Amino acid sequence: MRVVVLTGAGVSAESGLATFRDAGGLWEGHDPMVVATPESFAADPDLVQRFYDARRAELARVEPNAAHRALARLEDALGDDLLLVTQNVDDLHERAGSRRVVHMHGRLRVAWCTACDGRHDWTGTLLDLPPCPGCGAERLRPDVVWFGEIPYEMERIEDALWDCDLFVSIGTSGVVYPAAAFVQYALSRGVTTLELNLDVSDASTDFHVSRRGPASELVPAWVEGLMAATGAGPVSG
Ligand SMILES: [Zn+2]
Repeated sequence: MRVVVLTGAGVSAESGLATFRDAGGLWEGHDPMVVATPESFAADPDLVQRFYDARRAELARVEPNAAHRALARLEDALGDDLLLVTQNVDDLHERAGSRRVVHMHGRLRVAWCTACDGRHDWTGTLLDLPPCPGCGAERLRPDVVWFGEIPYEMERIEDALWDCDLFVSIGTSGVVYPAAAFVQYALSRGVTTLELNLDVSDASTDFHVSRRGPASELVPAWVEGLMAATGAGPVSG
């Protein structure tokens, strides 16, 4: 069975990371949705760098939860038949043990040099304009996809959706495109679709099955059930 899983902010929220939309509205008096744009970066790079430096620092204070760990077990069981796509820019899937993760909106812990196009693992700050390890230019920005920029690896994701048997959307509001269109794309291919989300989402009625609850409960239950049904489980952990 080939499975494509899409995860969103709801999965990281249970680890204590404020979701982008539920962050309490304002960050230092600014709407986070407005901070995360190329236009904001051009107008006030320090503001945008401080925002992402703070979010990167936050990662050191959180741990993966049961939903991340269950998805890592699913990868152990399905191998290449699972594609895990995340809208999250944190590294909690990797820290839970997932190895093949498509970060369609980029990664907080990677710096991208706009001078040489190099990408470098990064845990520190960027506000202080550190030199690029590759070319020395002081032109590093967070390797995250801002509003108005094109998400990463869309072709790979669409190929996987084209070929899969099951598409599962976890902890995502269903309003940010292009991810919001994945369910329609999957349905057009006759793929079975499942939504696991805390609340009813704008897309809930599109899915064959939609379950409500915390990801840390719904995801382990779904993974154990799937592995039992496919003869891949049970797997401890
Ligand atoms: Zn460079």
